[in-house]
Amino acid sequence: MKLIFLGTGSAFTVGNGNYHSNIVLENDRKERLLIDCGSDIRHSMFEQGLSYQDIDSVYISHLHADHAGGLEWLALTRYFDKSCGKPTLFISSDQVDDLWSKVLQGGLETLPDEKSSLSTFFDVCPVNHDFTWSGISFQIIPTLHIQSGDNRLPTYGLLFEIHKKQIFITTDTRFVPQHFQDIYKRADLIFHDCETAQHKTGVHAHYDDLKTLDPSIKKKMWLYHYNPGPLPDARQDGFGGFAAKGQSFVLD
Ligand SMILES: [Zn+2]
Ligand SMILES: [Zn+2]
Repeated sequence: MKLIFLGTGSAFTVGNGNYHSNIVLENDRKERLLIDCGSDIRHSMFEQGLSYQDIDSVYISHLHADHAGGLEWLALTRYFDKSCGKPTLFISSDQVDDLWSKVLQGGLETLPDEKSSLSTFFDVCPVNHDFTWSGISFQIIPTLHIQSGDNRLPTYGLLFEIHKKQIFITTDTRFVPQHFQDIYKRADLIFHDCETAQHKTGVHAHYDDLKTLDPSIKKKMWLYHYNPGPLPDARQDGFGGFAAKGQSFVLD
């Protein structure tokens, strides 16, 4: 099993050769789970030698365009290529309706011969706590990313185990060490959202805050979703490092 970073950039990444922080998990049979599908997915997959035909399933953490903005492309390319089946779509049950009505309906509603819905294009699997792909159980972990008054944008990271090793992918999250403290301890490998811009947005974990974590946590932590521009020396600061576009991690 291996995990491949199609890109490691933040939402507004442009012009530096990097792409959105979308990830492919590939098993030994070359079946692939796409973890988030942002608006530059067709370019980032192409660069790694992959096409829409190579994806079996897709997991969507939340509805920002760098995580869900490429789904229209995936839906339509798969729909019109009759040699492909529908990809399975894993998404938390509280986001299913909004994914259709607020993100996809405008571009996907009208087809020549039918009135379409999300299930026209995907085998939709709404997730409450966990889902299984390739025999692996993935637990969805609520993160705190965007909050407006009492209104929290649902966002979910992933925690899963391969060969007794626990892997945690935060997807987008603020720096909330109390919230994650049990998982930070349990996990053997952590891929963490990391903002590196000078000015903190407050909606992503910033490098300067992540740097204050315990050394035992930092050493198993790889950073991604970072801004264009120069990066600090993460290894020197005790992290595993910054994940790079195209980098793969063998998980067994
Ligand atoms: Zn993002
Ligand atoms: Zn986001």
